[in-house]
Amino acid sequence: THFGFESINESEKTGKVHEVFSNVASKYDVMNDAMSLGVHRLWKDRFMQVLDPLPGTRLLDVAGGTGDIAFRFINWVKEKEQQQRKATPGAEFRLNPLETDEPASTPEFPSAEDYLNTEQRADTSDTDGKKDSKVIVCDINQSMLEVGKERAKKLELEDDVVWVTGNAEELPFPDNSVDAYTIAFGIRNVTHIEKALCEAYRVLTPGGRFLCLEFSQVSNPLISSVYDLYSFQVIPVLGELIASDWKSYQYLVESIRKFPNQEEFAEMIREAGFRMVSYDNLTSGVAAIHSGFKI
Ligand code: SAM
Repeated sequence: THFGFESINESEKTGKVHEVFSNVASKYDVMNDAMSLGVHRLWKDRFMQVLDPLPGTRLLDVAGGTGDIAFRFINWVKEKEQQQRKATPGAEFRLNPLETDEPASTPEFPSAEDYLNTEQRADTSDTDGKKDSKVIVCDINQSMLEVGKERAKKLELEDDVVWVTGNAEELPFPDNSVDAYTIAFGIRNVTHIEKALCEAYRVLTPGGRFLCLEFSQVSNPLISSVYDLYSFQVIPVLGELIASDWKSYQYLVESIRKFPNQEEFAEMIREAGFRMVSYDNLTSGVAAIHSGFKI
């Protein structure tokens, strides 16, 4: 075929995906804005709105790349905390500024130490030994995580995120250890999607939520033809112009077309054991948010 990756077998896919994201890591965020004309930001905002996490939520963001979901999560939770503080009368007149409104029963976030090897632990431990990480970003590609860490530094959020290298198909986390599992534009790249879904189920605590943002299928024929034209004609050109990488962006378009449609993917999520599975289309189904609960 005219697409370089269509004929590759499963074991080759993992390597190709790794190569693609290593190639694009430094340009990844710019490319996202350019290709989606900024729309990916709105989709991710919507995604966080659907998740609506409460303070104390332990989030695992898989295939988290450069941190878009993690940063939104932190901001969302901080906003919620502020609202709670405002709603607590007298909180602003507290004499001891170290006192917080956190209820004593707030579940403790699984500490980085539970997950990281010694080397990584040395990187992430605070000088006072306090562990206040709220979200773990797990990605198979170190280059993407490095870009994420740099962004976190600039945003002064480096203490709020733990970055872990790992495969969605074999997560380096214990059973029942997180309240929410998110994966945004990631599952499409995983070689065995069912394995990743089973792993999501395993690490979630009972009652925990699975939320996935992914490209999906456009059913409206008119929108679909415009979208096809844009993806096949424009995206690889943008890839070449901005990242000097036509092939990686061809892969992107191709992987989107191969991904199961809304209903098929919902069925796969059910098969992994999730209940109350539902989905919401974004931009006429160009993307969709799938949701499920471990009950
Ligand atoms: N979630 C981020 C976002 O929305 O901007 C990044 C999405 S990016 C399109 C896809 C990410 O999936 C890449 O960072 C890639 O390294 C990661 N990835 C691909 N296969 C993976 C796997 N098997 N396990 C974990 N991450 C994977």
